[in-house]
Amino acid sequence: MEAAVMAAAAETCADCGARRPRYVSITLGIWLCNRCYGIHRSIGAHVTRTKCVGLDTWSPQELHRMKSIGNERAASYWESSVPAGYSRPGPASGNEEVENWIRDKYERKLFCPRDSAPPTVPEFQEKSSVSGSTTRSQGQAAKFNLPYPKLHPLPPPPKSEADDEEFGSFIQAPS
Ligand SMILES: [Zn+2]
Repeated sequence: MEAAVMAAAAETCADCGARRPRYVSITLGIWLCNRCYGIHRSIGAHVTRTKCVGLDTWSPQELHRMKSIGNERAASYWESSVPAGYSRPGPASGNEEVENWIRDKYERKLFCPRDSAPPTVPEFQEKSSVSGSTTRSQGQAAKFNLPYPKLHPLPPPPKSEADDEEFGSFIQAPS
């Protein structure tokens, strides 16, 4: 199951852009780094319910939700009207700056459309797409069609040998 989760994982944290996020907000359908996971936890489960890859048990429904929403689709809603001058934090930004950004987005809801609801997922069906098989779920993750228009993909992040050694077996891009 964990391999299936990692196969669906985003390359970067939805909130600060740090590489290889290992946490998620199930509520929001986004992938998070360790720091942003902590900030989401401090906001509370009424806004964002978090989970860790590898430590927590995942239900097929939760994996389905993460595949269906994901960082890009979530950003197209939660960041749809970020002011041009707004300074978005990056991986090297201070904690306070990142926390303000996260609270502005999901708690104060400053940048999302007033007239539409957050991304939802189609009804999960037990027999359909999600299973425990690594190879199958990787293929399915690649084929999964989002109903939203895609944003421009991020450029591939620089590689480092240490990272590849630790995570290489999980992050093989489907061909
Ligand atoms: Zn982050």
